[in-house]
Amino acid sequence: MELHAQTLTDLQAGLERGDFSSVEITQALLDRIAKFDTDLNAFITVTSERALAAAKRADEVRSSGDNGVLCGLPIVHKDIFCTRDVTTTCGSRMLENFVSPYDATVVERFADAGAVVLGKTNMDEFAMGSSNETSFFGPVKNPWNLECSPGGSSGGSATAVAARLAPAATGTDTGGSIRQPAALTNTIGIKPTYGRVSRYGMIAFASSLDQAGVITRSAADAALLLGVMAGFDSRDSTSIDHPVPDYVAGLNGSLDGLRVGIVRQHFDEGLDAACADAVRESLGVLEAQGATLSEVDLPNLDYCVPTYYVVAPAECSSNLSRFDGVRFGHRAADPKDLLDLYCRSRGEGFGAEVKRRIMTGTYVLSAGYYDAYYLKAQKVRQLICQDFKRAFADVDVIAGPTTPTPAFKLGDKTDDPITMYLNDIYTIGANLAGLPAMSVPCGIIDGLPIGLHMVGPHWAEETLLCTAHQFARQTDWHMRSPEAYR
Ligand code: GLN
Repeated sequence: MELHAQTLTDLQAGLERGDFSSVEITQALLDRIAKFDTDLNAFITVTSERALAAAKRADEVRSSGDNGVLCGLPIVHKDIFCTRDVTTTCGSRMLENFVSPYDATVVERFADAGAVVLGKTNMDEFAMGSSNETSFFGPVKNPWNLECSPGGSSGGSATAVAARLAPAATGTDTGGSIRQPAALTNTIGIKPTYGRVSRYGMIAFASSLDQAGVITRSAADAALLLGVMAGFDSRDSTSIDHPVPDYVAGLNGSLDGLRVGIVRQHFDEGLDAACADAVRESLGVLEAQGATLSEVDLPNLDYCVPTYYVVAPAECSSNLSRFDGVRFGHRAADPKDLLDLYCRSRGEGFGAEVKRRIMTGTYVLSAGYYDAYYLKAQKVRQLICQDFKRAFADVDVIAGPTTPTPAFKLGDKTDDPITMYLNDIYTIGANLAGLPAMSVPCGIIDGLPIGLHMVGPHWAEETLLCTAHQFARQTDWHMRSPEAYR
């Protein structure tokens, strides 16, 4: 198999056997990026020279035998993770030229494990969006159909993996930003339990919801990478000190007796009929492997999106107040006075969606409206958490569609933020409740892929990865790739 078509696990085995070198893999992928990314726009920065130097070092280390688990394996980072010496833009004009003085913990852990970083991927501005159209660097294209969005906000990561420009990518998920683009590009995306992966050096959008994860082409690769990323970090006060299991070893569990919950409301009229059929068929695949299906109730499901769109903007309005043109980021030219510096730096540096969120967030936190909106949303958030808790008393996993429809056309939803926001209707609940969740390829509708979404109780990443792995052994959806990028 050609190098670009191999999964991380394949490449790892090949490197171990000495079939090829890390330099060869790296060069092959950099060549593909050079060939295809002008159209796809998945990358904001390609770090060719650094990647080749790192690959060369990895090859040397490997021959000495003392190598990390990802030694010489290529990955790409969403441009929200701070990287020393390479710009971290977060998809924004505000940080167009920003070079962080330190590496994010996630970046550091991959580097310590020996991974080779090919570049930084495009994303919605400050991770606010579901289509990658809010990026200052232009939209990312979906390799399955260049007129369509790959989803967002980790759309660059998803497209890079789907078009085989990289076998794996990091992403972040505040309301669905790993799982939704994974579903729309036929890749696998996992968002771990809140606190599982350090947020240190990951530019904050909504701190109580943001969580880092990965996009890959196989559950085994996701397990391999999660094992590297996960674990306590004293530099992140929300990181939780909980043992990290051997996710790869957990893949071979059995689905016999797995209790799968289905949410009736997930199949209401909002869901595309062909998607519903494909998801039902996938649930049948789990059943055939010994899982039992039953209905569960999430009575406050309808409030997930409105709750999220109070909590997330509130947190973002606070987080983004640090971008004031004084310390770092975009600075307006020739300010008249301090107020003018603040106003113009922010006015010029932020795009329309980011401004909309900051304004909404500031409003819901303001003295007169705090109780009516922010406090109320926090209470509803608790109810949503309790719904999940109750459901997980009876089932091990909740499964359903990742998105209501396959990929939509670029431009289709840009004038209507509410319809855009509704794209995350099935994914947002997991963020509000801090639960691990995953999307796996489960069908192709009129040439466009869709995903099966699974949510587990806290720390159930192993169950999700194992279910995804076993599901993929019975189906070949994850093997399909867009014709022009095979
Ligand atoms: N699409 C959602 C939003 O726009 C979620 C984004 C995310 O998960 N980062 O906020």
